[in-house]
Amino acid sequence: MAIHIRGGTLFAPEALGPKDLLVAGGRIEAVTEPGAIQPGGFPVEVLDAQGLTVLPGFIDPHVHILGGGGEGGPATRAPEIRVEDIVRSGVTTLIGCLGTDGVTRHPASLLAKARALDIEGVSTYVFVGSYEVPVRTVTGSVRSDLVLIDKVIGAGEIAISDHRSSQPSFEEIARLAAECRVGGLLGKKAGVLHFHLGDGARRLDYLWRLLRETEIPPSQVIPTHVNRNRALLEDALAYAAAGGFIDLTAGVDPENETDDDVSVETAVRLGLERGVPIERIMVSSDSHGSLPVFDKAGRLVGLTVAAQDTLLLKFRSLIRRGILAPDQAARLFAANPAVYYKLEGKGRVAPGADADLVLFDETRVLRTVIAKGRVLMRDGKLLARGTFSAP
Ligand code: ZN
Repeated sequence: MAIHIRGGTLFAPEALGPKDLLVAGGRIEAVTEPGAIQPGGFPVEVLDAQGLTVLPGFIDPHVHILGGGGEGGPATRAPEIRVEDIVRSGVTTLIGCLGTDGVTRHPASLLAKARALDIEGVSTYVFVGSYEVPVRTVTGSVRSDLVLIDKVIGAGEIAISDHRSSQPSFEEIARLAAECRVGGLLGKKAGVLHFHLGDGARRLDYLWRLLRETEIPPSQVIPTHVNRNRALLEDALAYAAAGGFIDLTAGVDPENETDDDVSVETAVRLGLERGVPIERIMVSSDSHGSLPVFDKAGRLVGLTVAAQDTLLLKFRSLIRRGILAPDQAARLFAANPAVYYKLEGKGRVAPGADADLVLFDETRVLRTVIAKGRVLMRDGKLLARGTFSAP
């Protein structure tokens, strides 16, 4: 059914003030001044958005939708994500990836899980591969996966500067970046090479070398977890100031941050201070990756799973602390990844765009989520249901 969203304050991501929206057929049909939409002759659900802000649905560009982990053996393989967790977090689009374990997790099952989430209501894409090089693919090469499989938009997360990486040589990485570039061109995709960064002292060396020694444009590659320690973050901010793109991981609470674990709040504030354009910064949840807990002797004593709701928490916190205005936050959590990853119809509220919307009240509590034109949360009540969830 068509939806008439009345009277919300729109960040498209630009701050456009009070607007009415008409949603039909999964898309945004019209964005008008309040009161200008007079639908007739077809059924319309009216959604009163007075006092609410309306933004494009959040895009989470790094999620272990199949579950990550496994570093403590088979019992530590993290569980799959559920559509309810995604919707409750204001996320309407996500990019799925594998992690450390490319042996018992496969690109084909990742693709199947992405398709399942799509059917359950959200939009999904995937990175092919895991931490390792050579990359495990579906059709035999990164290039052909990019050309032949719609959901594949790049390769990742490929681990570098980490004890869990396959210790790839620079030449292997350069060749892989070239695969992504050419596959992306042929498949009309972004063709992104997505790097997992560990705590290793080599930090972004390979990315700097790609910038200096190859013809690969900086938009082809992006490192994530760059706020995992202060020295790595400084390297990443310099890299972004020089033209690169970076992805921050959202988990750390600013009240508990250390030089070994920097919050998104601090990272974004420093980035803006250093003159990094906000368009070059993205934030992902790393959701459903495992968070091992070690005791003082280094023994594994517990394990939790990274939560999906961290983008929502960061959205609120960045605005509340005055680090970002709402329109900048809408860029960070929606428009930037949509543009960077070339996700057509995503990340903006405009006629013709996909109807992916999140509505917040004045205390920035999430009230309503619409994805591909379907209301998946209304007035705080979750309507999304996974296939195997209780009715
Ligand atoms: Zn990672």
